[in-house]
Amino acid sequence: MADYDVIIIGGGPAGLVCAETLGGCSLAVLLLEQKKTIGPKTCGGGLTALDMSFPIPKKLTRAFHQQIFQMDKKKRKIRLRNPLRTIAREDLGTFQVERLRRFKNITIRTGTAMTKINENAIVTSNGERIGYRYLVGADGAASRVRNHLGLKRRISMGIQYILPTKAGRVVWYNNPRKLGAGYGWVFPHRKFTSAGIFFDPRRINMREAKEALHDMLREMHIPYEHARFEGAPVNCLYEGIKHGNIFLAGDAAGVTSALTGEGISFAMATGKDIAEHILGTNTSFRYLKQILKYKRRQERLLAIANLVRSPWLQKIGLVGFINLLRFPWFQKYIGN
Ligand SMILES: Cc1cc2nc3c(=O)[nH]c(=O)nc-3n(C[C@H](O)[C@H](O)[C@H](O)COP(=O)(O)OP(=O)(O)OC[C@H]3O[C@@H](n4cnc5c(N)ncnc54)[C@H](O)[C@@H]3O)c2cc1C
Repeated sequence: MADYDVIIIGGGPAGLVCAETLGGCSLAVLLLEQKKTIGPKTCGGGLTALDMSFPIPKKLTRAFHQQIFQMDKKKRKIRLRNPLRTIAREDLGTFQVERLRRFKNITIRTGTAMTKINENAIVTSNGERIGYRYLVGADGAASRVRNHLGLKRRISMGIQYILPTKAGRVVWYNNPRKLGAGYGWVFPHRKFTSAGIFFDPRRINMREAKEALHDMLREMHIPYEHARFEGAPVNCLYEGIKHGNIFLAGDAAGVTSALTGEGISFAMATGKDIAEHILGTNTSFRYLKQILKYKRRQERLLAIANLVRSPWLQKIGLVGFINLLRFPWFQKYIGN
């Protein structure tokens, strides 16, 4: 006998949307989060138009239609048909958890990690054995559920400074000589600014990435000496969402884009898909299909960029890409 119909491992955007979608149904759902607090996570907190299908209150976000692309100190401006929004992950997590409180069939346990998976049961950090009918691995890039399934990963890295100052503009930074097809960002939030670099660790090591981040901040005259530095991996290798009665969502599933590192909306979409699949209302994983379409398009571009070895040619390619981004049809094609 299962103790719960569904156990969700991980209280990130994937796990929380999965739980919310199961809210109010006849299934008993347990969500386990290893951290004491749900929400905080090393992340730039940038949301694209895909997130607009999830009801995130505007008051928690800042919205930016105008994007600045900076390369060789030259700035190019682009206007997006749908704004890029930013949200602090703490605010997103708090908002998502609040929405779960009304559902009696959802139990949330924080400060409890899943440490082992046996047949149809998990073991927690308290040594407790809890049975399940369905297990959802929404446990991020270092997913234990993914490990249990014996699936590989492809890791990209994000590093950032959390700056106490509030910037006014979104800036994207390219430096092919130092970063290859990686890029930098400056995302202004309501109470702070995230400035970081997304890169492929097989091409650039951590020291080089940090150096490129410092170059970027110096070029932009942004002081970072007293800012908080942090970094985390994302998993970009998608190898299926359903594995018998075990599902993988978000970073655990490897749906994050290796070009942009965008994973919040992709995580939410897969969380929703899995819940609807369990409920039997969406057996075709329709949201996943949409995000995989964008992910493939973006990663095809990345593969082309990685083929080009000369930074000079990469620059020409990047300028072409930025110019294409001026067209709303291209913004739509590439996934906003
Ligand atoms: C520096 C950086 C910047 C980024 N910027 C952006 C951005 O601007 N926009 C964007 O869309 N994406 C961004 N991403 C990617 C984004 O953060 C992830 O794709 C997204 O958080 C994935 O959501 P998730 O729910 O799958 O996993 P996570 O958000 O990682 O949540 C997983 C949760 O599972 C918990 N957990 C893990 N193991 C266990 C266990 N054994 N038991 C219980 N709980 C467990 C963790 O504590 C965590 O809370 C960035 C990533 C990095 C590293």
